[in-house]
Order: sequence, then structure tokens, then C-alpha cells
Amino acid sequence: MQHRADVVVLGAGMVGVSAALHLQQRGRDVILVDRHARAGEETSYGNAGLIETASVFPYMFPRDFGQILRTALNLSPAVRYAFADLPEFLPWLVRYYMASAPQRALHSAMAELPLIRRSRIEHEALIAEAGVPDLLRSTGWIKLFRSEATLATALGDLDRARQYGVEADVLDASGIAAHEPNLSGEFAGAIRFPAPGFVPDPGGLAKAYAALFAKKGGRFLVGDARTLEQEGASWRIAGSDGAIVAREIVVALGPWSDQVFGPLGYSIPLAVKRGYHLHLAPRGNAVLTHPVLDSDQGFLLAPMSKGIRLTTGVEFARRDAPPTPIQVERALPKARDLFPLGEAIEPTPWMGARPCLPDMLPVIGRAPRHPGLWFDFGHQHHGLTLGPATGRLLAELMTGETPFADPSPFRAERFS
Ligand SMILES: Cc1cc2nc3c(=O)[nH]c(=O)nc-3n(C[C@H](O)[C@H](O)[C@H](O)COP(=O)(O)OP(=O)(O)OC[C@H]3O[C@@H](n4cnc5c(N)ncnc54)[C@H](O)[C@@H]3O)c2cc1C
Repeated sequence: MQHRADVVVLGAGMVGVSAALHLQQRGRDVILVDRHARAGEETSYGNAGLIETASVFPYMFPRDFGQILRTALNLSPAVRYAFADLPEFLPWLVRYYMASAPQRALHSAMAELPLIRRSRIEHEALIAEAGVPDLLRSTGWIKLFRSEATLATALGDLDRARQYGVEADVLDASGIAAHEPNLSGEFAGAIRFPAPGFVPDPGGLAKAYAALFAKKGGRFLVGDARTLEQEGASWRIAGSDGAIVAREIVVALGPWSDQVFGPLGYSIPLAVKRGYHLHLAPRGNAVLTHPVLDSDQGFLLAPMSKGIRLTTGVEFARRDAPPTPIQVERALPKARDLFPLGEAIEPTPWMGARPCLPDMLPVIGRAPRHPGLWFDFGHQHHGLTLGPATGRLLAELMTGETPFADPSPFRAERFS
């Protein structure tokens, strides 16, 4: 048996599903291919659920010496690295450091701004069409500060972000208690961002978008992207029930995208920032309304449908190295002090890998040397946020429409 389509999208995470929907909306016959039988089973399942319209400045390498030293000594709660893997990712870290110089970081932020601004609008449209309004909450989120110094730095950053339209309320202890009465601790203050959306089941949202894609005639097939071959003017993948053939291919494999671009000869510096989560039941009648980031302690609590999801910051390690959930173990007692948490809901923490390029911008657009091959990966800390907006941008490029944002900063050629 052979399956044919105009376009095959490889990868059914938030990024691939969104690209498939946007291509379908533009009249393309699309097949979505994943190694799993269901969408949203990997990174797009395990994130913190924020549609982060307030993050106009991407997460860059710290420039502050104290922070660099704490990180180098593995003392930072938000960032940890696996010493044994250091030789592997050190060259990438150097590129990340260079791309984080103030002018270059500002360039990344300005390139991404139109996508961030579009992110919630695109999700709202898909959520309405998919008929899943419960999967988007308008709570915004809260960033807590335990020290006056970190609060002061964050307020400086906020002044800058406000110039780009970010809205925020600065809260004192009573303001924090008014918004989240079950939090305990000594706080210097907090910032509440009211505009970002919160998705209480990110994997469920990817599945709802995949169901919408199928309802509109899209096909979802199981296959291994590593079998991709060029065959004349077409591309072929070995699917689990026969070959899948199309003239155009979209690589949306998130942290695994190198499995396709690598063998085709592209040297794109994709690395990962790993992260963990663990669900816990709230104790008694305790309720958490917003996702809450304890910024000085480096973890976030999000009120997911499945329980309170404790998510960690960044771990630099090889994508496929065994999990080392030290950050979860360290955060857990602090999280219990912050909010009344009961039993863990799963036996071991989940681990995922944020797909990152050194300039913290995704790669979106045509593959430079292979006609019919397109890239849509590297969404770093913001793949839930940006999936639908970058899906639109990619589909506009593929169908010759005028793109809603300047696509040039996202070209793969920037690394040649
Ligand atoms: C702890 C944590 C918290 C986060 N919090 C947020 C947040 O609050 N907001 C936000 O916007 N982002 C957040 N992110 C980032 C976000 O989750 C990612 O950027 C996003 O999920 C990437 O989506 P993706 O579709 O590119 O990748 P994935 O979701 O990983 O999808 C890739 C797909 O490719 C498939 N695949 C892989 N290899 C093959 C193969 N060989 N053949 C076929 N299929 C294959 C996989 O099965 C998978 O379905 C967070 C990430 C982490 C780890």
C-alpha cells in the first residue's frame, strides 16, 4: 500500500500539528507522520502550559558574573549541567554565549516579537474551531521573588518589556495572598502577567488539534522519519502500513530534527535544554489558580488537569543521556513549603528536551539545498506558545502568500 499527499509533516508535537492545520487550511492534502500513534506525546505533553505572550525577551545566556559562577559551580537552582557531557555541548554553549551579547539578544527578541504577539490569537482560533474552550484559561501567571535584589532586576526587565506592550501588575505580600491564598513564604514581591494564556493539558491540546486536522480530512500515520529518502522530485518514508510519498516534506521533529537534517548534510547547531516535571495532588482543599514561578528557587507550579505540575528549569545534557532528575528532588521540599502538596501522582518524573538554536530563534523555511524540504523546529522554551504562529508563517511561505512576519531571521542559512 502507498499513501500519497501534497505534503508530509514529520512530527506531531504542537509545532507539527499546527503546521499541518495551517497547510490544510490553504488547500493542501497533508499527512502527519509520527513514531507514536497519537499526537503530543513528547515535549509538547510535558511543558508548563504557558502561552507566553509576556516573554518578549528570549532566555539568553546570563551575562552577570555571579550568575555565571553559580551556574559553573552547578549551584544555580534554575540551571544545571551534566559534567560528563560538557565536552559535547561546550562548543554550543560558546555560540549561545556569543548570541546572548546585548545587541544580538535584542535582534532575536525583535525577530520573534511578531510571532509572540500572534501566538495567543492563533491558539484562540484553533481552540474555537476544535471546540475545546476548557483547554485555555485566562489566568495569566505569577512570578514570585524572595529577595529584594532579584525583584529589583526583574522590575528593570519589566520596564523594558513594557515598551513592547507587556502588561503586568506588581504585587506585594498582600497582593500575592489576594491572588493565591494558599501560598506560604517570605516574598519580596511578585509580578503578575495577566495576558498569557494557560493550557491545563498541553498534550490534550495537541491531540485536540490533531483531531481537528483528522476531522477536516487530514491523515495521521505512524512512521519513522529516519527512513526519509528522496525519490526523483518526491520524498518517501516507510510508514507502518506502507510507503508515504509527497512532493513536500516539513521537518517538525522538535529535539529529534537532526535525525533528518543531519543525514542530508545540514550542519545546524540544534541542542537541547532538558527539563522535568512531576505531578502532585494538592492537599485538602488547597487550590492554585495561576501557574506560579518561584524564580529564586528555580521551579514552577502549574495547576494542570492531572494535578499540580512541578516543572524544573534547564538541564544541559545529551538529549539521549539517562534522566537525572536532581532538580526535581531539590525543588520538591521547597515546593511543599510554598504550596500544600500531597502525594506524587506518578512514580518517576517525566523528562523532556527543549529544542534550541544558539540564538533562541527557531528554524523556519525552505531547506537551502533540497527542493521540497522545509524546516519548522527549534522552538526552545516557547514551542507551545509559538507552534500555531510558526505554523501559519511556514504555510504562508510554502503557499506563496505574503508572510505575516519577516521570515529572514529564521532561515537555516544563518548558520552557514
Ligand atoms: C519542562 C518544560 C517546560 C516548558 N514550558 C513551556 C511553556 O510553558 N510554554 C511554552 O510555550 N513552551 C514550553 N516548553 C517548550 C515546549 O514544550 C517545546 O518547545 C515544544 O513542545 C516543542 O514542540 P515540538 O512539536 O517542536 O516538539 P515535540 O513536542 O517533541 O514533537 C516532536 C515529535 O516528533 C516525533 N518524532 C521524533 N522522532 C521521530 C522519528 N524518528 N519519526 C517520527 N516521529 C518522530 C515525536 O514523537 C514527537 O511527537 C517547555 C519545555 C519543557 C521541557
